[in-house]
Amino acid sequence: MDDPSTIEKGGGTFQGIKLLLCENPLPPIEAAIDAAVDEVPRSNYYTEPHSKPLRTLLAEKLDVPEENLHVNAGSELILRQLFDRFGKHVHLLTPTYPLFPEIAERYTETRLRPEDDFRYDLGRLEVPDGTTLAVIVNPNNPNGGTFDMARLPALLEGHPDTRFLVDEAFIDVAGESVVDLVPRHRNLLVTRTLSKAHSLAGFRVGYGVFPKSVAAEFDRRNDAYPLTRPSQAAAVATLRHEETIRDRIDRLRAWREEFATEIEALGVRTFPSETYFFLADFAPHDASEIASKIRERDIYVKPLDDARLGSGFMRLTTARPAENRQVLSALEELL
Ligand code: PMP
Repeated sequence: MDDPSTIEKGGGTFQGIKLLLCENPLPPIEAAIDAAVDEVPRSNYYTEPHSKPLRTLLAEKLDVPEENLHVNAGSELILRQLFDRFGKHVHLLTPTYPLFPEIAERYTETRLRPEDDFRYDLGRLEVPDGTTLAVIVNPNNPNGGTFDMARLPALLEGHPDTRFLVDEAFIDVAGESVVDLVPRHRNLLVTRTLSKAHSLAGFRVGYGVFPKSVAAEFDRRNDAYPLTRPSQAAAVATLRHEETIRDRIDRLRAWREEFATEIEALGVRTFPSETYFFLADFAPHDASEIASKIRERDIYVKPLDDARLGSGFMRLTTARPAENRQVLSALEELL
């Protein structure tokens, strides 16, 4: 039996129901598994420097020059390096991905509010003077809502000394990408991952779409072989099956909608999401208490660590329908 904290942080030989880390509940597609397995016997040889085959494929798919791309072992690593490099004064729209407040040296915030369903008009965004890095997560984690990015060019032009980081970890699930703006704006940085829509979290494949000088600098300061042979093969195979990925995303979104509706039926408020996870407010119940009780049934959920929202908030990720039903009946007994 795994230690629960191992499971909460990721990993373990886990068999229960895990709605914790916004992981895709579906395994990698078969073509990815086959491609990865085929590469294992060749793993005495190095792979291509800077993940050339993957990078070429991404450039083609995103229609941006290859020189604007930086590939690395997961987007968290890239985000950490961007914060080290540019994050002296960070501005965040909160609640946000918990890594950001953790790694920012100091940050200011614009609050997204439950009264607005965590929606926000970026045209109203005030970026404090001296901000070196303003971060927009689209779709946002933890609520799963998207931002209208039409106002981004005006922000980029209005704040030439601020770098805007758009974290598009979930963009293949919902929302409008801004990667096409990168070649025209020297202060726009976009990060993405194959961990979410593409079900490859354990393979660790992330990338950045950056101004050419930043992409070149990040290539220089990193390992020339950031992905293993199996990881790169899995990534390339997955990106060649876009239709399958689209179909799976449609299924996940439908499961999330059904799951959220059934949670609402328990008398719990849920908030709009366009992804496969969503926020629920269990008040007057305490989300941490629910999480620790439900863990006894091998179900793992994530209470939100933001005292300003009260103690009832929880982020839930959809599992498959049969697993969602188990979660619902456990919640019904606990509430
Ligand atoms: N950005 C966001 C918003 C995330 O939620 C996550 C992971 N949960 C990441 C980045 C990091 O993903 P990875 O390191 O697997 O690419």
